[in-house]
Amino acid sequence: MAAVRTTKGRKHITESEQIVVENPITRQPIGAVPAMSADDVAAAVERARRAQPAWEALGVKARGRLIMRFADLLWAEQKTAVRTIRAETGKTEFGAWVEVAVLEQTCTYYRHNAPRLLRPQTRRSLAPLKHRARVYYKPYGVVGFITPWNYPLLNGFQDLIPALIAGNTVVLKPSEITPFTALYAARLMHRAGIPRDVIQVVTGDGRTGAALVEYVDYIAFTGSTATGRKIAARAGERLIPCSLELGGKDPMIILRDVDLDLAASGTLVGALENAGQVCVGTERIYVEDAIYDQYIEKLKYYADQLVIGAAAGDHVHVGSLTNERELLRAEAFIADAVAKGAQVIFGGRRRPDLGPLFFEPTILVNVDHTMQVMREETFGPLIPIMRVKDAEEAIRLANDSDYGLSGSIFTRDLKRGEQLATRIHSGDVTINTTKWVFGSPSLPMGGVKHSGLGRRNGPEGLLRFVRPQSVLVNWPILDKPQFTLNHWLLIPMHVLTRRIRWHIPLLRM
Ligand code: NAD
Repeated sequence: MAAVRTTKGRKHITESEQIVVENPITRQPIGAVPAMSADDVAAAVERARRAQPAWEALGVKARGRLIMRFADLLWAEQKTAVRTIRAETGKTEFGAWVEVAVLEQTCTYYRHNAPRLLRPQTRRSLAPLKHRARVYYKPYGVVGFITPWNYPLLNGFQDLIPALIAGNTVVLKPSEITPFTALYAARLMHRAGIPRDVIQVVTGDGRTGAALVEYVDYIAFTGSTATGRKIAARAGERLIPCSLELGGKDPMIILRDVDLDLAASGTLVGALENAGQVCVGTERIYVEDAIYDQYIEKLKYYADQLVIGAAAGDHVHVGSLTNERELLRAEAFIADAVAKGAQVIFGGRRRPDLGPLFFEPTILVNVDHTMQVMREETFGPLIPIMRVKDAEEAIRLANDSDYGLSGSIFTRDLKRGEQLATRIHSGDVTINTTKWVFGSPSLPMGGVKHSGLGRRNGPEGLLRFVRPQSVLVNWPILDKPQFTLNHWLLIPMHVLTRRIRWHIPLLRM
């Protein structure tokens, strides 16, 4: 008998190595998946390795066409996708649909841009008239993905689309809490004509994930900072590249010239999307003293209008938490803050009448940086607000964090907002809105400090999955024997063109 941890908190005992997955709203099992062993993972990677040369040989345009066929199927079957995501996360219908919509756009972006971005580039060598040099972009081989549960479709597939289009084959280990969305999307890819061994899903918990790191040529991880550290350490020992999309503690700065309605409603959207279980969720708010009281009034006004519940439909703003751990953490952070002098001015309680993992959106004031709620990632519907003297103090506090994923500034002065944005230590900053970088396929997104390494999306999100190879061709004139080249050609040319070389296009590349 093997004891298998489940997903939303309870323990299940099963005969074989199975992981039972629960619906967080009903707490009923929705199915089980095998906890795959290291041998299973090794076999999957071996199949992916054998399939890779043919996939690469297909060419970037043909791969792009298959990816678009997958996007078309996903779009046509979006209701099934939304149902699958909701069954294992408990998120709102709109929240699940956003995953589908962003993934569809990601496919379109890379289908149209990858051929240009992966085309061999002509570059300048040290002796440009003597050499022709080109950089080729080659796939790594087999890329492993390890992903979390909060965006079960997007967090895996948004990143593996560029890996596939670059010519890699992929083995994905989704979270044990939400494996069915990944299994569903991989089946859609197979139906779209992508060979079965080109995209495979291995199910299991952290042990299966750790096994994957042992066999692949590149590991792309999205999840907590604690797990990311372990993966980076092992990738370092194996000398394979890795990218890490980790946790965040995103600040929001509200300046005195702000449109208060925009700022108050924007705060709720930033903090409460997916019930706060978002890596780029707004987790701490700094408000200039001059407008603090009006802002709090507006925030309470809009918070009163929020609809929380399990019902389908766009009128629901806040769904269930997915994971019991997050509910317990939210309660612990509130208790810690209150013990240190904070006040709860809105919400603060569980809502068992709606479902076992529902928690009220909670506004906390009189908080400071001695409290966990201002320093550690919350991943729940908490909105801690701190009064600050001015923008300088807000920037200083925003940067007083181990994390640096995203951030936002609300102001009517867009130019000043943009200048202040560049002083925030994070992978992205949005002005008068939140999270739109995460959903924009052409914008690089990722973290600094403990929020990660590498970037997803945009050219950067594609080029991380290829290794550049420089090929230099020497024209065999004037250099027989070769060692005379330096004296006859290279040194005089170098001296002659020293001042002018960057003004001559042929010599500049
Ligand atoms: P987690 O680190 O607990 O688990 C993530 C994945 O890693 C799961 O698939 C898990 O099975 C696997 N895993 C666990 N231990 C492992 C090990 N030793 N070796 C290999 N794999 C292992 O994170 P979580 O609770 O699933 O996700 C929440 C976290 O993810 C939050 O911190 C959130 O901020 C972060 N996140 C970041 C981004 C981003 O883009 N930066 C996006 C979504 C979520």
